[in-house]
Amino acid sequence: MSCDFVSLATKGVQGLTPYQPGKPVDELERELGIQNIVKLASNENPLGPSPKALEAIKGQFEDLTRYPDGNGFLLKKAIAEHLGVAQDGIVLGNGSNDVLDLIAQAYLEPGCEAIFSEYAFAVYPIATQAAGATAVVTPANNWGHDLDAMVAAITEKTKVIFLANPNNPTGTWFTKSDFEGFIEQVPENVIVVLDEAYAEYVEEPEYPKGIEYLGEYSNLVVTRTYSKAYGLASLRVGYSISNPQIADVLNRIRSPFNVDSFALAAATAVMNDVEYIQKSVEINRKGMAQITLAMESLGLDYIPSVGNFVSVDFGKDAMPIYEALLREGVIVRPMAAYKMPTFLRVSIGLEEENARFIDALSSDAVKAVL
Ligand SMILES: *Cc1c(COP(=O)(O)O)cnc(C)c1O
Repeated sequence: MSCDFVSLATKGVQGLTPYQPGKPVDELERELGIQNIVKLASNENPLGPSPKALEAIKGQFEDLTRYPDGNGFLLKKAIAEHLGVAQDGIVLGNGSNDVLDLIAQAYLEPGCEAIFSEYAFAVYPIATQAAGATAVVTPANNWGHDLDAMVAAITEKTKVIFLANPNNPTGTWFTKSDFEGFIEQVPENVIVVLDEAYAEYVEEPEYPKGIEYLGEYSNLVVTRTYSKAYGLASLRVGYSISNPQIADVLNRIRSPFNVDSFALAAATAVMNDVEYIQKSVEINRKGMAQITLAMESLGLDYIPSVGNFVSVDFGKDAMPIYEALLREGVIVRPMAAYKMPTFLRVSIGLEEENARFIDALSSDAVKAVL
């Protein structure tokens, strides 16, 4: 090979390492030849899909040969009605990840800057670097976003600020007054991306719902997903809500049929499935208590989380513990890529799945490396 196709890539892409997803169940089955694996690694909804989603998907089989509705009219209508927002501010994505990429592609280029926090979601640095822009990473405050530091980091080159509330992988969150004090100080020509992937799980009265600020701040983009509480991670569907002009810009570079008809139908069907969300939140609340209590009795520290996951500090390199848990058939998420090498992030599962994780920590194999 005479041509080096890596150095032929754009500068940003040359330096990238791919996003590392949680280990799939069937991969571990193949590797270890074991069954009965519990996956608590990707913050998926442990309840299984809503019956409404399954029903809606079945209704799409006959149209398999047709392209989906490229405008996602019915889903946008359902979102608009459910949240009380205008349809022309909604952009649908192949997962909210897609929308985050669209924002980076549309607004970032070499010479400009994107700000995000230390320990923030791994997609922000990837999207920023892929666009050739410079990442400005502000130090965390008690594992959460330091919003004052983020304001202080704004320069003439800043185009985008990424915030996750709650944040993944730390589960930390900021209040209404924190957010209001922050966004007031951000110039209008800086786009604030408020990633609310876990919003449905938060039960704190002081939690700021991004959509309530859209009227006042035209530079705000709120992103949401069907992958977490809505239980449709496999289908890849999420969206952003913003002022129509930003939505127009994002739609210019969106792939024509980025959300397929199964995802559109299922997401439309679950949008008003209040019962499913309530049940999911309840399971999460109980599971969070089950896991954090167990961590306390094991003398392990964790970062208090309002999401459907919790990061546990093992006080030493957690990789051998991760691997020993795998051999017990329990998949959690190592945090070395987030520069949190002593942590493992555990998604909240069903009661019996949480118990498998807790019991595995007391197995001889795991105890040997604890
Ligand atoms: C899981 C997650 C997302 C989105 O995932 P999609 O499946 O692409 O919608 C976005 N932001 C954060 C912080 C997440 O944890």
